[in-house]
Amino acid sequence: MKYETIIGLETHVELKTATKCFCSCPAEFGGEPNTHTCPTCTGMPGALPVLNKKVVEFAIKTGLALNCEIQRYNRFDRKNYFYPDLPKGYQISQLFLPICRGGYVDIETDGATKRIGITRIHIEEDAGKLIHSGASISDSDFSVVDYNRSSVPLIEIVSEPDLRSPQEARIFMEKLRSILEYIGVSDCKMQEGSLRCDANVSIRPPEQKEFGVRSEIKNLNSFRSVQRGIEYEQIRQAAVLDEGGKVIQETRTWDEEKGVTHSMRSKEEAHDYRYFPDPDLVPFVAEPEWVAKIAETLPELPDARKERLTGRLGLSAYDASGVIARLATADYFDEAMKHTGDAKAVANWILGDISAWLNSNNLEMRDFPVAAGNISAMINLINKGVLSSKLAKTVFEEMLKSGKAPAEIVREKGLEQISDAGALALAVEKIIKDNPKSAEDYKAGKDRALGFLVGQVMKETRGRANPEMINKLLREKLS
Ligand code: ADP
Ligand code: MG
Ligand code: ZN
Repeated sequence: MKYETIIGLETHVELKTATKCFCSCPAEFGGEPNTHTCPTCTGMPGALPVLNKKVVEFAIKTGLALNCEIQRYNRFDRKNYFYPDLPKGYQISQLFLPICRGGYVDIETDGATKRIGITRIHIEEDAGKLIHSGASISDSDFSVVDYNRSSVPLIEIVSEPDLRSPQEARIFMEKLRSILEYIGVSDCKMQEGSLRCDANVSIRPPEQKEFGVRSEIKNLNSFRSVQRGIEYEQIRQAAVLDEGGKVIQETRTWDEEKGVTHSMRSKEEAHDYRYFPDPDLVPFVAEPEWVAKIAETLPELPDARKERLTGRLGLSAYDASGVIARLATADYFDEAMKHTGDAKAVANWILGDISAWLNSNNLEMRDFPVAAGNISAMINLINKGVLSSKLAKTVFEEMLKSGKAPAEIVREKGLEQISDAGALALAVEKIIKDNPKSAEDYKAGKDRALGFLVGQVMKETRGRANPEMINKLLREKLS
């Protein structure tokens, strides 16, 4: 690569508090348009905001999970601008005194750990939502506005410009989602906009010390678009520099369908927004005792969980990362481990057949219908030699259909593995007699012929034969 890419992310996280940031309307996603509203969150004259304490608690909890310093003295500022989704004409935010500063997140890239700095986290309120009559604002006859989202609490997590590739940016976002899910402050549903980010991207020739001029990409609402948007942007900027041009500082929007970014506006500066302290809200203090209490509520975080899985439970780093990435998956794993000692097998089922089934049905782990205990029971049947790995797939499918326990399915469908040497010897003899050519080939040193014969015995027993025993019996009989 001719240029080095520098990336800093500004991640917006909708907090899953019961009520909004400054009024008692429900903060819940959706609902009939303009039903989660009141005079305060629709900016009526005379309505006054009252801070939701839970919002501050969640912001502090996030700051602690991201190793930040929690600021004791706090205040809100008004960010002034006009847009129809912003009924007050200003957004309540925290420019001058963000509640958290100076943290970090460790990410894994190419097998190494890299530390990404967190500059700050501040609290702000979300805006309402415009719905256009056409596909986009420019080809619409009219637009309507829904204020249900107006004043839903957000935190903005600003990273240091420490990321160096689109891939790293994506991994960082995925890590953030894990942590936020674990601490329970957000749904982190990118498709519903509860986790979204703006990417600041610049490039520089390797010998250059200072960062290049950056553009800020908006509208990145999936992990894939974070990566693709930055990929596009680094190529676009490289072309500008290669032609002897200059990258200009601007805000661009990502067009998911066309796979390109478009210029929206030249970049605005903080002073353009005429920030000033909000006179309607009193400053507040986050007492260290309160912060310490919140710290006690932090659960085991993804890194610690991974260590537990690779340590005592002996999983590979790769498997452990796969298991712990999503909270529902990590919890499913833990639940399964209450009923079996075979961590490797549980991880294999989760990352193999279970993930494949979820993907093909477009579902998430929290929707998975088979109880974790039943997966463990199935693994135990395999390990005891009652069920072959091959027929386990049949049991798995049946569990998905009927929800029955694996032992019951094995009994009802007659799927017990045949490990009885006498019964298997008969089948083995029959197959040797029916396939004299293969038997001769094996005797002549062609090892591959054995695999074929094993397969034939499996077929003969409708998959129920114990493959290790067949192997052994065939070798004995043919030697
Ligand atoms: P704002 O975008 O509101 O002006 P900042 O100037 O603090 O805010 O920068 C926001 C984000 O841009 C941060 O995540 C920071 O790491 C990143 N950033 C700053 N300078 C650069 C740069 N030259 N290239 C890439 N990212 C940058
Ligand atoms: Mg910005
Ligand atoms: Zn309200």
